[in-house]
Amino acid sequence: MLPPRFLLLLLLCFLSCRSFTITPTSRLVLNKALSIEKCKPRVLRAAGRGGEEDVDSDVVLTNLKTEEAKLMSLLTSVRSKKLAALRSKPLRIAVVGFGRFGQFIAKSFAKTSTVIAVSRSDYSKVAEEMGVEYYSLKDFDKVIATGVDVVVLSTSILSFSSLLSTLLPPLLSIGGTQPSTTYPLIVDVLSVKSHPRRVMLDSLPPHCDVLCTHPMFGPESGKTSWSNLNFVFEKTRLAGVTYPNPQSTLNDPSSGMDAAFSIDRVERFLSLFEEEGCNMVELSCEEHDKAAANSQFITHLVGRILGRQGLKPTPIDTKGFESVLQLIGSTNSDSFDLFYGLYKYNGNSMDTILKMKQAMEEVEAGLKVMERQDINAPGFGGDAGLLGFQRKSWKKDTPL
Ligand code: NAP
Repeated sequence: MLPPRFLLLLLLCFLSCRSFTITPTSRLVLNKALSIEKCKPRVLRAAGRGGEEDVDSDVVLTNLKTEEAKLMSLLTSVRSKKLAALRSKPLRIAVVGFGRFGQFIAKSFAKTSTVIAVSRSDYSKVAEEMGVEYYSLKDFDKVIATGVDVVVLSTSILSFSSLLSTLLPPLLSIGGTQPSTTYPLIVDVLSVKSHPRRVMLDSLPPHCDVLCTHPMFGPESGKTSWSNLNFVFEKTRLAGVTYPNPQSTLNDPSSGMDAAFSIDRVERFLSLFEEEGCNMVELSCEEHDKAAANSQFITHLVGRILGRQGLKPTPIDTKGFESVLQLIGSTNSDSFDLFYGLYKYNGNSMDTILKMKQAMEEVEAGLKVMERQDINAPGFGGDAGLLGFQRKSWKKDTPL
């Protein structure tokens, strides 16, 4: 059969040759052709090959895609302006504790900021290779004298309190009469949050802004990129106002605090992680610790327990076992101080250990119950057969 479009064309040619005189027969043919043409979308729709609705949705989708492309290009341009703004006024950041994690974050900060490494041990060579300045912890007063915008505390959880007391004299020597803008923003990156929050609020001069953070990744998981990795933070104290007080009290002119300055500085610092593609999670320190005991601490606990078993790769490793080895590798490459700190300074960690022990017992009990049913079943149970017999008669150290 001729296609309807072709039929319609033929008909129109025919009519035009006949000086547009429409006979009843030609009207019939024309109507038929038009009705076929009208039906087409429905027929095709039924066959799932397009139609009016599909044409409409195609148009909608095309429009949405165009809109999306415009937004993407706007986002790219805002991002590059933001990056230019960051680079135009680079932050001076002192990273105190230039161990494994301190070096890891310093490398990224150095892309847009001036970094000063400060540590107890001598890291002058590492710092030089990274292109950053190095100061011994004993010379922290000199670092403060050079003027820094941010001090990032990347020391072990266990040494945090004592380290902060070492840093206090130079910070206190700035003097209470100085405007808040002379004091650096103090940031911690500890894997527990309530403990450093309490210590910092108790001891730091009131003019110091405080930001509690926990990058939920490290040198292993963030080796190639920080994209989509969680970064938890709490703006603990800004311009003298401690979270969770309402931000409306920020602008008290008599306090000598510069709220706009504090907000700008904290946002500039947070942008360093945003720009690396981190997933920024604003969360209270308390909520962080609850969640971390059931996620981070349990990961380290399982990794340490499995690590004790001396598991090694075999020629027939499954993907699951490869993940197990990976977990052992990543958790055991962190210091034991870190693991102990997670336990000691997070009140929820002991609960996680107890639940873990209980779960282990329940799983073992489940196996024993099934084994008993299996052995007591007629003919030594289900499909156990010979195996059931073997299991029943098997004793420790007896070869099967
Ligand atoms: P760590 O063993 O927790 O800490 C090592 C750092 O603490 C070193 O810089 C060390 O300085 C310093 N330190 C230890 N005892 C000290 C003391 N008595 N006085 C002064 N400094 C002392 O290992 P880390 O992996 O580098 O972690 C640093 C911080 O980052 C920790 O608070 C950790 O919770 C946090 N964090 C780590 C990860 C991670 O994946 N590793 C992820 C997120 C957050 P010296 O080397 O100069 O001795």
